[in-house]
Amino acid sequence: MNAFSFYNPVKLIFGKGQLAKLPTELSVFGKKVLVVYGGGSIKKNSLYDEVMNYLNEAGMEIFELSGVEPNPRLSTAKRGADLCKAEGIEVVLAVGGGSVIDCTKLIVAAAKYDGDPWDLVTRKAFPEEALPFGTVLTLAATGSEMNSGSVITNEETLEKYGWGSPLVFPKFSILDPVNTFTVPLDQTVYGIVDMMSHMFEQYYHNATNTPLQDEMIEGALRTVIDAAPKLITDLENYELRETILFAGTLGLNGFLQMGYNGDWASHNIEHAVSAVYDIPHAGGLAIIFPRWMRHNLKVNPERFAKLATKVFHVDPSGKTPEEIGLEGIERLSSFWASLGAPVNLSDYKIDDSQIDLMVEKAMARGEYGNFNKLNAEDTKVILTACL
Ligand code: NAP
Ligand code: FE
Repeated sequence: MNAFSFYNPVKLIFGKGQLAKLPTELSVFGKKVLVVYGGGSIKKNSLYDEVMNYLNEAGMEIFELSGVEPNPRLSTAKRGADLCKAEGIEVVLAVGGGSVIDCTKLIVAAAKYDGDPWDLVTRKAFPEEALPFGTVLTLAATGSEMNSGSVITNEETLEKYGWGSPLVFPKFSILDPVNTFTVPLDQTVYGIVDMMSHMFEQYYHNATNTPLQDEMIEGALRTVIDAAPKLITDLENYELRETILFAGTLGLNGFLQMGYNGDWASHNIEHAVSAVYDIPHAGGLAIIFPRWMRHNLKVNPERFAKLATKVFHVDPSGKTPEEIGLEGIERLSSFWASLGAPVNLSDYKIDDSQIDLMVEKAMARGEYGNFNKLNAEDTKVILTACL
């Protein structure tokens, strides 16, 4: 493995009834709180009321920013940052999924930045300060609750980029599996695809001697593959929600990426697709990842064969590593399809008319991918295979 430093200061508060810790965790940062949430799911399932009761109990002065979109938009983050500046907000609370948390990360950094918040996303400027924030997670997927990354869409320029800063780690995140009971079937599946994709992104790296990391990722993937089909027919099963919730956090909190850089090309391509078409992040990943795998199989067939045997239980006897690897990719595609994930871009009515634009967006930061560098031609081949 490569030399590495590991830093993750997020206090993870996990389990049934843990929302009761909210007042204590939040009030140390101040009394004026901005509560950020999405399109209303928390009002339908009573989490909003529970959060408000705890905040009122703690004597907090409450401000609200609602309507954060899936694929959160720059304009919404700007509204949140302006509110923080105007009202002298001391602490922010994100209640929602990855979109609400990602938006909150830009809000807390932009609240302490005088320029255009988009500068922070494009890395024209780097945050020097940020407001503290906590999260109450409602959807298992992104790992944003325990990392310092954020993905924001500029709806005017049709750009969607990831950015991050150690200043935007949540101070704490409260994860109660019960708060994910109401996640509908499609979003539950998207979450599963997203967390598995994070594990794959990290599995495909160029370092050598990573036996423990390999086992951790393979074990995490096997666990998710075992739980997912049961969960989709039993959405209020506490143990299954608990397993999937923990897997989503572990999938992208840095634990699986010590000693190497993951690939992240499939995420880059997906961001280009959803910048142009605003499709669900993991819907795009379900389509793109198997094509990325096929495109890169020859780069290191042994790596693909290892995944196929250890995670998808492919019988290796009498087969070349490439054949084993290919069988693993096919099993992955069938597994995601069996959960009801989309298979082709045509499932979202996307045709080849904007392929060049998507390639251009994917190439905006130059060649990408740490397992294998991809150029514009590779990108076009992969996207064409996705149609
Ligand atoms: P999301 O976009 O936060 O939420 C998707 C939908 O699920 C929303 O309509 C939301 O409704 C609903 N929902 C959430 N919790 C619910 C609940 N408990 N009950 C019922 N409905 C619920 O989904 P996500 O997959 O967590 O986040 C996706 C975003 O994260 C994308 O923009 C993606 O690019 C980004 N991402 C970030 C990272 C990272 O590390 N930062 C990693 C991967 C992806 P409401 O709006 O009404 O609440
Ligand atoms: Fe993701």
